[in-house]
Amino acid sequence: MRAKESIITLNEQDLDFKYEIQKEPGGEGIMHCFACGGCTARCPVREIDEQYNPRKIIRMALLGLKEEVFRSEFVWLCSSHSRCAGRCPQEVTIGAIASACRNMAMREGYSNLSVNQGPKSSKAIKSNELDPGFKYEIQKEPGGESITHCFACGTCTASCPEMEKDNKYDPRRFIRKILLGMREEAFTDGFMWRCSTHYACNERCPQGVKISELMNVIRNIAMRGGYAPPK
Ligand code: SF4
Ligand code: SF4
Ligand code: SF4
Repeated sequence: MRAKESIITLNEQDLDFKYEIQKEPGGEGIMHCFACGGCTARCPVREIDEQYNPRKIIRMALLGLKEEVFRSEFVWLCSSHSRCAGRCPQEVTIGAIASACRNMAMREGYSNLSVNQGPKSSKAIKSNELDPGFKYEIQKEPGGESITHCFACGTCTASCPEMEKDNKYDPRRFIRKILLGMREEAFTDGFMWRCSTHYACNERCPQGVKISELMNVIRNIAMRGGYAPPK
């Protein structure tokens, strides 16, 4: 049985939410979804952890569950790499819809990619604070080339001993911050200093992301920018 506080009542539905998404660049196709689940079967994020489910997110959006969509971590994790799009019989571009929801969520003060910064936190990131060139800066450095291959599956996270000790140390979230252009958030993430670059995750990454090399590159850039490891 659902916990009482998680029960949704009809008057909490925002029936205009789907139209707002439809008006947002990237969100145009949302009304074509007929909930077959083809995207979910193809999504690498879902493959590792069932709680992340693109079909459910789209259904929640169509049902007007705005708050639930904005609070969902999935819209921040979806890498918009479109592996699912080829499977959609309705030609829905789920990655673009996730981006549209992310932009809308940021405008309303939600940010859900950091354990310390929950939805509607005063520290929530704003879209004009994102640095879209950040990932390319890392990619140019020897060892940083593979960063854009990450499709956020979470295999590294599932195999990371730091994550086992404390779930705020999370390689996938850390890489997502960089790919989304959250420079300050990445440089102040304790995981950056914590990662021991011992290669356990490198061997498992289905995308061949060289996570250990990447971590050294990012740490060097951070130090050049005046960031230092915590004492
Ligand atoms: S594959 Fe397309 S139609 Fe099917 S659930 Fe996903 S978005 Fe909807
Ligand atoms: S674009 Fe997003 S929803 Fe689609 S497969 Fe990739 S991560 Fe999953
Ligand atoms: S770095 Fe590799 S294992 Fe980690 S989330 Fe990205 S694609 Fe998955």
